Amino acid sequence: MTAIANPSVSIQDLSLNFGAISVLQTLNLDVAEGEFIVLLGPSGCGKSTLLNCIAGLLDISDGRIFIKGKNVTWEEPKDRGIGMVFQSYALYPQMTVERNLSFGLRVAGLARDEIAKRIARAAEILQIEPLLQRKPAALSGGQRQRVAIGRALVRDVDVFLFDEPLSNLDAKLRSELRVEIKLLHRKLENTMIYVTHDQIEAMTLADRIAVMKGGVIQQLDAPQTIYNRPVNRFVAGFLGSPA
Ligand code: ADP
Ligand code: MG
Repeated sequence: MTAIANPSVSIQDLSLNFGAISVLQTLNLDVAEGEFIVLLGPSGCGKSTLLNCIAGLLDISDGRIFIKGKNVTWEEPKDRGIGMVFQSYALYPQMTVERNLSFGLRVAGLARDEIAKRIARAAEILQIEPLLQRKPAALSGGQRQRVAIGRALVRDVDVFLFDEPLSNLDAKLRSELRVEIKLLHRKLENTMIYVTHDQIEAMTLADRIAVMKGGVIQQLDAPQTIYNRPVNRFVAGFLGSPA
């Protein structure tokens, strides 16, 4: 594989152990600027752990993480220039949608009119303008997940991390939001690292898919390459390509 010049995210020899258990093993991954990378693999293979390491929510055991050329290995999550969207919506139930969107920006000390501008833009892109004064309990699952994406969007960051953002939704909403996330990426042209165990999501969203098993990336390639030329039986079986 050819090396990526000026990667947006660079993970170098990353290992993570929980006690005596090795969850990620000397893992390397370079993500290009504006690339949509999907981490695909069965439950328990270490996808969320890897994402949480990039986000700074877990201390790594070994290795280094660079974002936009800066070594962020020991930086606080808020200083890494990333926005994260989780499977559970993690919205503040007592706050309106608008408050949910503005909360982090107020804490960061942004000016009032800048906050308003960013919320207006995110609300327009995600089509949640009519929902701004509602509370999360009054929203559908799909609407809540739009707000959760909005919270990453208003932070105006270069890198989005998604952890199975659609797995709590029914099939119809899942395919709708999949299309929206794809459009969002086209519009923003930012770097996205997206975790899923869903092969269809991976095939339709990814520029490249990293197929993981047991804390190791088995293959990192474009969807068609993985489908047509899986490197081993596990990848072939998992992606459902013909034997
Ligand atoms: P995935 O997101 O791919 O389903 P995870 O990253 O959540 O997998 O988990 C990878 C492995 O690490 C699993 O075997 C899981 O049991 C283990 N694990 C995750 N979090 C912890 C933790 N806090 N303590 C101990 N083991 C953990
Ligand atoms: Mg997970």
